[in-house]
Amino acid sequence: MAILTADHLTKKYPGEDTPALDDVSLSIEAGEFLAIVGPSGSGKSTLLHLLGGVDRPTSGSVQLYDTDIYKLNETQLAIFRRRQVGLIYQFYNLMPELTVAENITLPTELDGKTVPAAILDELLATLGLQEKRGALPSQLSGGQQQRVAIGRALIGQPAIVLADEPTGNLDQRNSQEIMDVLHQANAKSGQTIVVITHDPAIAAQAGRVITIEDGRLKEGR
Ligand code: ADP
Ligand code: ADP
Repeated sequence: MAILTADHLTKKYPGEDTPALDDVSLSIEAGEFLAIVGPSGSGKSTLLHLLGGVDRPTSGSVQLYDTDIYKLNETQLAIFRRRQVGLIYQFYNLMPELTVAENITLPTELDGKTVPAAILDELLATLGLQEKRGALPSQLSGGQQQRVAIGRALIGQPAIVLADEPTGNLDQRNSQEIMDVLHQANAKSGQTIVVITHDPAIAAQAGRVITIEDGRLKEGR
């Protein structure tokens, strides 16, 4: 079953002559682990942002289950993003004054809910961060900080997790740990995951790879 369907997506940024994304159609199945590869500036981040309701396309549509997300107004779209999309970036964007546990539960609390202790404990264990739950981001390695960011993305059990070069700032060992956490979420919880990467070793671990070049979708495997 398709969870997310992009139909003829085009994005032209103001003042640019050529579209950053040009007529891309794509269907993502529930439980898929998809990698997006392609040269720098080819439109990968633009595509990821459009899939996650972060930006609006110039034309085309994105459908999550039955919802045509760009028919939503700004308030509805913000709620959609908060509840249905987990975003992970190359740089972790953690709140420096909050602990590991507080950073992870922050989005849920902003949504007016409380994370059950057992759910948080299990996630911290999956992330290998039980010992660090009270630590501040400045007391963590880069790989640990990225695992906190992944926890923050996963805690609300979003329909889809979108990661833009999540290992781009990490060495090989930490990169593999990050990928292991994402694969575990995919295998154990059936979490649907889309990862942009430059790293062929990481793309090779995905269930499907698509290539974006000059804003267009090339054949994937
Ligand atoms: P990638 O993720 O593959 O590196 P991007 O999606 O970031 O590619 O960018 C695709 C193209 O769109 C690039 O030419 C980039 O400079 C341009 N671009 C991205 N974001 C903006 C923006 N906010 N305003 C104008 N141009 C942008
Ligand atoms: P990546 O290659 O990982 O996508 P970029 O450095 O291309 O990262 O983009 C980082 C941020 O800057 C994004 O939010 C993107 O939208 C914005 N951006 C990229 N290119 C441009 C541009 N030419 N003009 C304005 N904003 C841009």
